[in-house]
Amino acid sequence: MMKDEWCVHYNGTVNDRCKADHAYADVMRPMTNTEVEALAERQRIASEEPPSRYGSSYAVPNPELFGQLNRVPCFLRNGDLRTCADCRFPTPEEIAEREQRLREYVAKVGNARHAIMEHIKAQGLLKRDCSGVIRCPVCGGKLHYGRAGSYNGHVHAECETAGCVSWLE
Ligand SMILES: [Zn+2]
Repeated sequence: MMKDEWCVHYNGTVNDRCKADHAYADVMRPMTNTEVEALAERQRIASEEPPSRYGSSYAVPNPELFGQLNRVPCFLRNGDLRTCADCRFPTPEEIAEREQRLREYVAKVGNARHAIMEHIKAQGLLKRDCSGVIRCPVCGGKLHYGRAGSYNGHVHAECETAGCVSWLE
């Protein structure tokens, strides 16, 4: 199977409009008969559910957006829907660039994590929960860290420098 790609303008359907200023609702293809039936079935179940103070788990908040992730042209896996004039998938060069950036970032996190572990070891705190600040080996800024040494050894860290490393394990 081909790897899925997103349109370069896609910013998540939590937003109403993409980066090219198209409303997702406007570029969605119409529902298929199967989707219309699935929606009707959901609404039927919702209407038969006993009332709950949390509302119905089957109710569709906005029926017009039902199945929207399958209906927007923004994902390669949805096929070429031709419902949006600006839909564009990344070029092989852009994909290669993105992967390069990702590799660089993973390497930065590896360096930062290594420095944190060396610092914790040097202090003899490997078996204890600890947190602190060290000089960031990536940018020289302040790297805040915490580690659950008494539990699972997970490390979380965040550098104060914007765009530098930040992660949670
Ligand atoms: Zn940093």
